Amino acid sequence: MRLFVALPLPTEIRASLAGLCGGIAGTRWIEPENFHITLRFIGDVGRGEADDLHTELASVRFPEFEMALSGIGTFERRGHVHMIWAGLDRPQIIVDLRDRIEAAAVRAGFQRESRKFKPHITLCRFKSHSMPDIGPYLAMNNDFSTAAFAVDHFSLYQSRLGHGGARYEVLSQYRLEQRVYYGDDAVAFADRS
Ligand code: ATP
Ligand code: MG
Repeated sequence: MRLFVALPLPTEIRASLAGLCGGIAGTRWIEPENFHITLRFIGDVGRGEADDLHTELASVRFPEFEMALSGIGTFERRGHVHMIWAGLDRPQIIVDLRDRIEAAAVRAGFQRESRKFKPHITLCRFKSHSMPDIGPYLAMNNDFSTAAFAVDHFSLYQSRLGHGGARYEVLSQYRLEQRVYYGDDAVAFADRS
């Protein structure tokens, strides 16, 4: 099983992202149902390892929060842009959540992830040999943003690689801790203990 841990995105946010998918020839756009924020790539594991991971993920405590998507950018590899991504307005809270998930993965027996974590939503990927001029696309979509939305769970996904791109299946969902709302102020149970 090829697994990863990620945040799903609400339908209307995925619809906004789908509006960014076009206007560049020769690239592979992500299907709207596949948009997600990877928190930890796990890779190929057997049932036992998956069970251990699930147990530890279920023990993660983290308060639910709100965020919005904001901005677009690129990742480069060997001097070539190899993908375009959409960004988040609160990257630090995603980093904090992923640190809890990383710790859970390590408790489950997985090796610590050595690559730096850069939270993003992949929009498209380029084959390294075909690089169109994406300057106009980036200029036009630079101010992309969405309304804020609630993040109240993260998910364990199985990825099935295929010719038409990967298909993801949710294996389990993990609830974040609910907050108490006092008017405009939200106080997490976790923050008060
Ligand atoms: P494809 O590989 O067919 O392009 P995909 O990348 O969407 O499809 P997977 O390779 O199964 O599917 O990856 C699942 C998620 O994990 C994606 O968000 C991907 O970017 C991320 N991912 C894959 N490999 C790694 C890795 N080595 N390190 C960090 N994240 C990874
Ligand atoms: Mg991949």
